[in-house]
Amino acid sequence: PPDVEQLGRSTWTFLHTMAAYYPEVPSYAQQRSMKTFLSTFSEFYPCNFCAEHLREEMKSKPPKVESRWALGKWLCEMHNIVNEKLGKNIFDCSKIDERWKDGPKD
Ligand code: FAD
Repeated sequence: PPDVEQLGRSTWTFLHTMAAYYPEVPSYAQQRSMKTFLSTFSEFYPCNFCAEHLREEMKSKPPKVESRWALGKWLCEMHNIVNEKLGKNIFDCSKIDERWKDGPKD
């Protein structure tokens, strides 16, 4: 079975980076694609209990895909739900661009 921690770190890196570079104003086609991607992702993520938990959370908190800002915030909140479950620190979602796009300010 995959190493759930290593897989998680790599996957969060990919997901947060993808969200950071999502269009500021996505077209409807891009919004639909992102919804489909996230739904498919939650079906095939190769950690079964993680994927199951994610699908459960996505029922009450469906992905926000209407802007780069909305997607980044939604993903940050999803990650924080997992952080809380695992007893990890809660991440400050105002810092996602600094962490995943721009780097620290000087
Ligand atoms: P990670 O949680 O992997 O975070 C990597 C980096 O992201 C951090 O160092 C930090 O800089 C940044 N970061 C942290 N929080 C946020 C945030 N909220 N927003 C933006 N950036 C942030 N593991 C389980 O044991 N059980 C599960 O049910 C489970 N579900 C998962 C579901 C998904 C969709 C994914 C991708 C992973 C899941 N994992 C789960 C793995 C778990 O979330 C961690 O990836 C793993 O435990 C390694 O943690 P880490 O401390 O290295 O940092």
